[in-house]
Parts: sequence; structure tokens; C-alpha cells
Amino acid sequence: MKSVPESFASMVFDDRVMKATLSAEVYSSLRKTIDEGAKLDISVANSVATAMKDWAVSKGATHYTHWFQPLTGITAEKHDSFISPSPDGGVIMEFSGKELIKGEPDASSFPSGGLRATFEARGYTAWDPTSYAFIKGKTLCIPTAFCSYGSEALDKKTPLLRSMEALNVQALRILRLFGHDDVKCVRTSVGPEQEYFLITKEMYDKRPDLRFTGRTLFGSKPPKGQEMDDHYFGVIKPKVEEYMEDLNAELWKLGILAKTEHNEVAPAQHELAPIYTTTNIATDHNQLTMEIMQKVAARHGLVCLLHEKPFAGVNGSGKHNNWSISTDTGINLLSPGETPYDNAQFLIFLCAVIKAVDDYQDLLRIAVATAGNDHRLGANEAPPAVVSMFLGDELNAVLEAIETDTPYKNSEKTQLKLGVDVLPKFNRDTTDRNRTSPFAFTGNKFEFRMLGSANSIACTNIMLNSAVAESLKIYADRLEQADDFKAKLHEMIRKTIKDHKRIIFNGNGYDDAWIKEATEKRGLLNYRTTPDAIPHLLDKKNVEMLTSHKVFTEAELHSRHEITLENYCKTVVIEANTMVTMAKTEISPAIAKYTSKLADAVNSKKAADSGISYGYETSVIKKLSMLNDGISIKTSELEDALIKLQDAEDIEQEGYAIRDNLLTKMSELRTLCDQAETMTAKEYWPYPSYGDLLFGVK
Ligand code: ADP
Ligand code: MG
Repeated sequence: MKSVPESFASMVFDDRVMKATLSAEVYSSLRKTIDEGAKLDISVANSVATAMKDWAVSKGATHYTHWFQPLTGITAEKHDSFISPSPDGGVIMEFSGKELIKGEPDASSFPSGGLRATFEARGYTAWDPTSYAFIKGKTLCIPTAFCSYGSEALDKKTPLLRSMEALNVQALRILRLFGHDDVKCVRTSVGPEQEYFLITKEMYDKRPDLRFTGRTLFGSKPPKGQEMDDHYFGVIKPKVEEYMEDLNAELWKLGILAKTEHNEVAPAQHELAPIYTTTNIATDHNQLTMEIMQKVAARHGLVCLLHEKPFAGVNGSGKHNNWSISTDTGINLLSPGETPYDNAQFLIFLCAVIKAVDDYQDLLRIAVATAGNDHRLGANEAPPAVVSMFLGDELNAVLEAIETDTPYKNSEKTQLKLGVDVLPKFNRDTTDRNRTSPFAFTGNKFEFRMLGSANSIACTNIMLNSAVAESLKIYADRLEQADDFKAKLHEMIRKTIKDHKRIIFNGNGYDDAWIKEATEKRGLLNYRTTPDAIPHLLDKKNVEMLTSHKVFTEAELHSRHEITLENYCKTVVIEANTMVTMAKTEISPAIAKYTSKLADAVNSKKAADSGISYGYETSVIKKLSMLNDGISIKTSELEDALIKLQDAEDIEQEGYAIRDNLLTKMSELRTLCDQAETMTAKEYWPYPSYGDLLFGVK
């Protein structure tokens, strides 16, 4: 077997391979495209394509695909083989620069939210040379952006790249003012921590709800859940350990820096975190990671559940987006510096984030809004649907001192109003941990914790990058005009703290009292559900900000509004239909069968006429029969609610009808079925129980 360093990135057409396989001239031209976005010459593309194909074929690949991230949230690929007929009747393996740069999948069945009428179904994919090509199975995958012929983005990567560029432009303006003339480019980095559940394939196959919707729609609480807190960081079970080893090996081959893994709070729940990398690559890698997690699980007789809430009453799965900004010269702009002057620069970037999170709370909430994530956010589970920030005691004290012109507690005589040179020095490692905050500063990065485990991290980072670019733009506009740079800087930092301190909260984010304070006293937004959040994507201030930085066009925003709500509606409707089918064809019949079995017992006891009591049987028959009547009624009500959805005038109205009616009906039906489960003999119940599912993997 190959050692880890030998096999690491062995399936990636990365810098090492490029250097080894391309001529010096082609290599340097390609590097220029990758590093500086220079235009790519077709002759260079031809050489790169040939080298890529030869490399891929030598690794056993027979096909290539333009790999992209349509608005469905998963990734898409259409495989073409390299073969091309040769005059002698055989085939040769061919791949041209044109095929590398541009592809034309038939886009008519990808969601476009009105951007592309189906009669002009073609969209095209365009190579993203900043993310390396890789081999998956027998296919060379070329990371691409996906656009309509009107150049409207039909994917998540295009706006992500645009948002990174917007932030780059504005951050460079600020850095110039601080005298960093050597910095060529500013990039954001992300390390996403990914949570997931593992259950056995055998159990999974027996549950239509898991198969059709990714979560359990029925299931009573197991006698033991996560009460004991004995799973978190606990010993990893042998089968899970084998899975993790195999998963790591697969990810490493693709150059994904899988680093830490451990058990999570809930039984059967685990986490994987890679080492952070540039945001667009981290996004590609996270999509790949989710895909490979599921593939590897299948090899081990397991199923990896990425749903945000596979089990009611048990912690859901999230994803933490660790985010920082740094320069190509290696400065982390969110890292407090060594000198007061460095700290002034740190503070302005910190303030830019604070202002961004406060001004665009709604966009951050929208970025993570899905039907699945609604079961976590705003549903008594961490974090809440209210966006707030945690900075830690020390940084808080610094900001307070600046705001109120009072001496900073750790510095004896310093009055902070005198200008940047006296801003205090503070340590970066002093931030305490707060696990309940949706947006926490963790020393040299921010950790955004509202993402659901199945979310693409693209949306979050698009909004985050754009909002911070907007803060930086406002700062740069003012600072570039200032006569006294230091005084202006100080004033702006102070004003930001004053205006935006409402978003900073260092207490317990799960607490009901906080939600009350946040919404009533501080005026923070609380969009509990997806239908509450999504319409605000089209609020004037959001459209203006996102279009002014050229991250989205207005038409693209309308399409995202449409598609996100459509996804929400479709997801819940599929769940409701699945519940109806399960209740009608399996649950009710199972209860009926069991009660009739009990009735038989009663009858034979009566026939024996020996005074044997049958109180137990009759009481169970009575209770279960009543429940089954209720189930039948609730099932019909749910069916009616589904039919009523057709009355909705538009997708927003349909979303509201689901939020206000359909979900209530689903939950009422579930309650009755779950009660029945606790009273029905296990051998009669058609599905594995929560206990079987959660404790099934050895
Ligand atoms: P936690 O205590 O939250 O589990 P970790 O130290 O394990 O924190 O880090 C979580 C993630 O944060 C990892 O993916 C790590 O690579 C990433 N990370 C660390 N530093 C940075 C940074 N400067 N920018 C972005 N991500 C980072
Ligand atoms: Mg974390």
C-alpha cells in the first residue's frame, strides 16, 4: 500500500503535475490565469487539455466531465468519453482545449428559476482553472461554472467567485491606505466542519421515509438518547473507525485535507473537519466530501445521513463555516497584530465584519434557509434563527473602551481617543469558547454555525464576502477622502461599534430570554422558517448591495428567490406524501393486524370459558383502535392540506400554506403514529425503531 504522502492528491491534476507535464511556457501562462485571472490563450488550453488527458488516461480514466454545482445544491456531471474514431477503424483518446474550456450540457432540466425558457434550453459550463481537475472513478472531473447563454449564472460557483473578487477589490483599497503596496490579492479561506449520521444499510432500507426524504417522519423516542452525553468525543466503534479510515484515504487521494474526526453529541453522529483552504476550493471540496461520505458508507454496509434533522428529539447535524481573510503575502487580516498600528488594521477589518453581520443578518439567515434546517434554527436547537455575534471578553472590553473613550482595562494610562497609535495591544488566544453563538470570533477567524449539514457552503460565503465587501467599500470611500487618516479611522471604528453593538451578544444563545431581548429590545431579525426568510432576498437594500458589487444581477436574484422557495415546497410536499403512504399502507394496517390478533386472543379466552381474564388485551385494543381512527382522520386531513396547496397563487403563498397548515397536519399525524408505536408489539411494527437505528452500528 502507498504511504499517505505518496497517495495524497494522487488523483488531482495539481501544481506538481502541471509542472511535470507542461512546457515551461504553457505552465507559466496557465499560472498567470490561475493566480491573476489572466485570459487563457486557446493554444495554451490545447496543450493543457492534452496533458490533462494523458495524465488522466495513465490513471485509468476513460471519460471526462464538466463538474458543476447547479442550484439544486448537489453537484452535476455529464460524462463524455475521450474516444474519437481514427482512420484505421480504431479509436484514439482525444481531448481538445475547446472541450476543456467550454461544455454544453443540455440544461433544460436544471432549475433556473425563470432565467432560461426551456425552448432555449442550452446553458454552458466554463472551466474554473483556480480549482484543480481531479479523477473520480474512471472520469476526469473539470470544475466549472455554469451559465445561461445570456451569461446569467445558473450555479453557485459563479456568484461565489464574483463575491471573492468583490471582497478582494475593496480589501485592497483599505490595505493600500495602510501602506501595503506589495499585496496583490486578498482571499477568504474556509474550513468547514461537517456533521453526519451513520446507520446500517439494512435498517435504512426498511424505512421509506429515510429512503425518500433523508429523515425519519415517524418514530417514538428511544429509551436512551443523548441524555448521558457519553457519545461526544467517545471511543469510536470499530465499524465506524474502518469507515473513517477508508473515507480519509479517498479524500486524501483527491487532495482534500481531511484532518480531524470525532463522535458528536448524538448517538451515531460524527464530524469531519478538513484543514482550511481558499473558499472556492473549500466549496468544491465540501461538495466532494459529502458525495464521497455517502459512497464510502455504501461500501461498509452503512448509510451516511447528511440531513439536518434525521431524528426528532435528537440533536440535528450542522456545518460550521470557519472563515478568515488573508493576503497573498500571508497576513491574516482577522488576526490581532503585534503592534498598535497592526491592531488598527485588524480593528477596521473586525468592524467591517461586525457591520456586515448586522446590516445583512437577513442575507446570512437566507443563505442557510432550507426545509431541513428549519428543524434546527428556530426550533429550540442550537443555534437560534436570530443572528448574533460573539467576540469574547477581551475584544469586547477593547471595543467598549474605544466606544466610551475610557481607558482599556489592561493598559494603565492609555486614552484610546488619541489616535490609532495608542490602540491597545491584545492577545489573540484569549477568546473564550462560546458554543451557542451563531457567529463567533475564535481568535483569528469567524465561525458561522447556522449552516445545516446538507447546505452548500457557497451560499453562506457569497453573502458573507459580499456584505463585508460592502462595509469595506464604505470605509474606503471615506478614508480615501480623509485629510487626517488616523483621526478618520478612529472615528469610523468608534461609530461602527456604537451603531452595530446590538449584534454582539456574549451570553447563552439558546436561552428564550435572549430571543425576547434580541427581537424586542435590540430589534434583531428572527426569521424562524424558510418562507419567512426567503422573500427578503428581494428587499431593496439587499438587491442594491448584491448588484452593486456585481455578485448577482437582479434577474439572478429573482431566480434564486424562486428556486429556493420551490425547493422548500417540493421537499415538504414529498415528506407529506411519504407520510400519507406510510400511514395508509403500512402503519394503520399493522395496527389493525395487531389488534385483530389481540381480539383473537380475547375470543379464544372467552371460548375457553374458564374465567381467564382478558383485560390487558381489551385495553390495548381499545387504545390502539382509537389511535388508528385518529390516524385515519389525520391522514385524510393531511391529504386535504396537500390538495389545498394547489390554490396558492404563487410560490411564496405556497410556502406560507406549508408553514401554517401542512406542517401542523404532518406533526399531528406523527404524534398519533408515534404513540401507537409505543403500544404495538415490536414484531408487528413495520419499521426499525429509533433505538435500532441509533444504536445499530457496532
Ligand atoms: P473547533 O474547536 O471549532 O473544532 P478547530 O481548531 O478544529 O476548531 O478548527 C475548525 C476548522 O477551522 C478547521 O477546518 C480549521 O482548518 C479551520 N481554520 C483554522 N484556522 C482557520 C483560518 N484562519 N481560516 C479559516 N479556517 C480556519
Ligand atoms: Mg467548531
